Amino acid sequence: MQLLKDRIRKDGKIKSGNVLKVDSFLNHQMDIKLFEEIGKEFKRRFEGEEINKILTIEASGIGIACIVAQYFDVPVVFAKKTKTKNIAGDVYTTKVESFTHGKVYDIIVSKEFLGPGDKVLLIDDFLANGKALEGLAALVKDSGAHLVGAGIVIEKGFQTGGERLRAEGIRVESLAIVDGMDEEKGTIWFREDE
Ligand code: 5GP
Repeated sequence: MQLLKDRIRKDGKIKSGNVLKVDSFLNHQMDIKLFEEIGKEFKRRFEGEEINKILTIEASGIGIACIVAQYFDVPVVFAKKTKTKNIAGDVYTTKVESFTHGKVYDIIVSKEFLGPGDKVLLIDDFLANGKALEGLAALVKDSGAHLVGAGIVIEKGFQTGGERLRAEGIRVESLAIVDGMDEEKGTIWFREDE
């Protein structure tokens, strides 16, 4: 998606540890006009697929998922992150290792909002090592719902998540795939074939 790649080049900031900061338009301040274009593009890519629910993970996935959901006309469910050991109630839960924080946390979704018969599209801002997406896919599997695929805004193609998830048979659509970043020069390379 050219508009997105141009924006990442213009406003993205490369940080140490292979972190790309996009706080001015995606992760902190949010450019809703851009989100609308992202929503249209996911709708185009998943055209013809039956989808009745979008699943994302808090916090930065939520805003994107909500705008995207308007184009699919479906509700959004977000997996909650929790440190609580005793998880009360009827929930699906799994562990996720955070790329940005280096910690392991539990994510939960209430059984009330995900189950057999659901056809789920996963949405997230970044795909790096794939742990967040893998966690969401595990919740979908546990619930008996059908996983249609995953829509990712920015995939870091030099990390292993995308390749592994696709090898597992999950359809992953990424709107911009970053193949490399040079922190000193401030340059970013994109894969051209997405
Ligand atoms: P993964 O689980 O694929 O390793 O990482 C995905 C999650 O980590 C995303 O939900 C995102 O919040 C965060 N993340 C991973 N890499 C980056 C990055 O380069 N920049 C930002 N801002 N977040 C990232």
